[in-house]
Amino acid sequence: MTIALLTGASGFIAGHVLKILLEKGYTVKATVRSQSKADYLKSLYPADSKLSFVIVEDIAVLNAFDEAVKDVDVIVHTASPFHFKVTDPVKDLLDPAIKGTTSILQAAKKFAPQVKRVVITSSFAAIVNGSKGDWPEHTYSEADWNPVTWEEAIGTNPSTTYRASKTFAEKAAWDFLEKEKPNFTITTINPPLVWGPMIHDVTPETVNTSNANIWSLVNGSQATIPVTPALSWVDVRNVAEAHVLALEIPKAENQRYFVVADKFSYKDICGILLKNFPELSGKVPTEGGISTTKIFDVDNSKSKKDLGIEYISLEQSIVDLTKQFIDWVK
Ligand code: NDP
Repeated sequence: MTIALLTGASGFIAGHVLKILLEKGYTVKATVRSQSKADYLKSLYPADSKLSFVIVEDIAVLNAFDEAVKDVDVIVHTASPFHFKVTDPVKDLLDPAIKGTTSILQAAKKFAPQVKRVVITSSFAAIVNGSKGDWPEHTYSEADWNPVTWEEAIGTNPSTTYRASKTFAEKAAWDFLEKEKPNFTITTINPPLVWGPMIHDVTPETVNTSNANIWSLVNGSQATIPVTPALSWVDVRNVAEAHVLALEIPKAENQRYFVVADKFSYKDICGILLKNFPELSGKVPTEGGISTTKIFDVDNSKSKKDLGIEYISLEQSIVDLTKQFIDWVK
């Protein structure tokens, strides 16, 4: 049976990747930062003897994955910081993203020559060109690359630093493939904002960065509908599915996938919330916002064609997530 190494298993997206891997019969070696995170995940699958853990406290540390890669057949690397609490751009975001990616690839080449496939969670952050803003005449696809520079990356805008961390990490992976010619192929999954139900250990105070946008619409903290950013969205179950399919489908080898459902507006999301959860009336903002955002288009045809992804609707995603939030606002 195939042994998969899953990094950052305590995360929002990784929680769903882990679920699918176990459902499909993979043996999973999961990396987490502490024993308590391992204990939580083990409690979700108490009878599953195919799940084991390796503690990797900091992916930015040299040789962080040298032990973890031993004996595995395939790797899914999701671990990377996704937050905007930046005091030191290099230490907080850039190093863990970039060094984490190169160190797992180096470890696989050196200590696990049997590894055939590596799937890496990249991001729309590595695709988008921030300087173009709304760019309504453009359609983003896998062909686009964020042109961010190192000077911009180490500046004072945490969002630029995060986007740069994902861009440089993904570039480092493709450079590694070209220069080192390892035994494995690489696939990157590049989602935009990811929303949907949470399997990972989470409280109202620790909602992951992307779902926190929806949580703020539900918990009464937004007086008016926020301005919709020039972004797009996708459900976490589609993102997780894409990671696992990318391990299995030959066509996905050495490919990049923009796994995206569609554009969105916060006004539409507030409408979905009030329609499906009338008890949230008074908390969900009703003033402000616009429905039609004149921004770039998104092209998800490659992910549909190669991986067969059928995208979950915005309403379904928001409803399934909000069912979890409802208990917290009662
Ligand atoms: P989470 O914050 O839930 O997960 C991040 C994971 O990375 C956690 O397991 C975290 O561990 C781990 N991690 C972060 N920094 C380190 C470090 N220095 N050493 C060891 N482990 C670390 O976020 P998501 O699930 O949303 O993100 C997962 C991946 O998906 C990231 O690569 C992110 O960039 C990418 N992504 C996310 C999108 C989204 O909208 N959610 C969109 C596009 C890409 P711990 O739990 O201990 O903190």
